[in-house]
This record gives sequence, C-alpha cells and structure tokens, in this order.
Amino acid sequence: MRLDKLLTELGTGSRSEVKKYIRSGLVTVNGEVVKKPEQRVDEKNDTVCFRGNPLTYTEYEYYLFHKPAGCVTATEDNLHRTVMDYLTDTARHDLFPVGRLDIDTEGLLLITNDGALAHDLLSPAKHVSKVYYAKIDGRVTEEDVNLFENGVDIGEEKPAKPALLEVLHSGDNSEIRLTITEGRFHQVKRMFEAVGKKVTYLKRVEMGSLVLPDELAPGEYRPLTEEELQELR
Ligand code: URA
Repeated sequence: MRLDKLLTELGTGSRSEVKKYIRSGLVTVNGEVVKKPEQRVDEKNDTVCFRGNPLTYTEYEYYLFHKPAGCVTATEDNLHRTVMDYLTDTARHDLFPVGRLDIDTEGLLLITNDGALAHDLLSPAKHVSKVYYAKIDGRVTEEDVNLFENGVDIGEEKPAKPALLEVLHSGDNSEIRLTITEGRFHQVKRMFEAVGKKVTYLKRVEMGSLVLPDELAPGEYRPLTEEELQELR
C-alpha cells in the first residue's frame, strides 16, 4: 500500500500531516529515508520507522469492552463521552463499536475494524443471540415469560421474535436474564414496556459466543483471545 496510507491507518496523523512528515524526512523504509508519500511499501515485510521508531502493522484489531453507563455508542459525539474515548492504547485508528447499547446500558461491546465480522454479527439473518441481565420495576411473572416466548408486540409491524426470559428474582423489584436474537431500537426496554414494566438497570452479558468476563470492570477493555476470535467467526 502507499506509505502515506499506511502511516495514516496506524494513527501517525491525518493524511495531510503524514504527507508533511514524509516530505520532511521523518520516515524511513528499511533504514532509508523516503520522501515520497505515494511510495509503495509492503506493510507486512518492510520496516517502516517514524522519527526512528518502528511501526507495527496490524490489519485487524478486536477488543472486548465493558461499556459503563454515561457514554454513547458512537465514534464521535459533541455532547457526551463516547465508547471510543476509553480505548486509549490501540494500533488501529479506524475502530468502531459493533452494534449499539443505550447511554444508560452497561456491558459487553465488541470493538473492531473488521467490517465483515461486524456485518455478520449484526445481520438479522444470522440470529446472533444477545443475553441481558436486567432489574425490573415490578413483579415479573410466568405470564410475562410466556408472552416473551410467543413474541411480544412492541408496537411495530412485526412483534419481537420469541425470546427466553429467565426470572432470577421475582418481587416488587425483579431481576431477570433475557436472551434475544434481534437488535431493534431500545428492544429490551420496549419488550418490558409492552408488558407494563420498566427496566431500571440493563447490562449486556453475552453476544454470540462472547461472554463479559467478571474481571473486566466497567470502562476496561482487553483484546479478544485467539480462542474467542475463532469461536466468533
Ligand atoms: N435493549 C435496550 O433497550 N437497550 C440497550 O441498550 C440494548 C438492548
């Protein structure tokens, strides 16, 4: 690929900044100063240095992030902190969140620059399951379990797909685990609204084969393990 493209992808600067760095002799390829931004390099085998420091080429990165409440699932936002603001130590600068959690929802979010994998995970045809833990204002009943199992009407043309509702605690404030295979806007909250109840706390604990690790605190992230990645594909 072009030298300026490689440096931009690896976060050295914007395309125009990178061109200036290259023209002013700050970049070497295999020990030789290269002053042409358009020069082609073999990103896997050439040693490219910026200000004397070697750059490691990484095509794809995959991070498991524990989203805290209070940040938006976006790459940029004028008002709020975004999930991307938490990922401070990454090689790639074209990462994005796969899917969306509401600002007040916590839990598992995959962050990557692998568009094909993201597309597969989000495709309605793939029925990737998502598991949520929630606290509910009100008593969750067997009737709710049956309604969810049969596909609850959430006020759209089509009802929600059948979902597995497990009641962990039933009382004035209930605790549940819900497995769904869709990702409609505010889906979990709207499913409970449809049975006259309000979600007061929501956390995603699983997505497909990925499970939120207990040791990952809100706001923390770590790369996927090789095993996690293989299972996900
Ligand atoms: N369902 C919701 O209502 N909110 C989320 O953030 C995720 C699923």
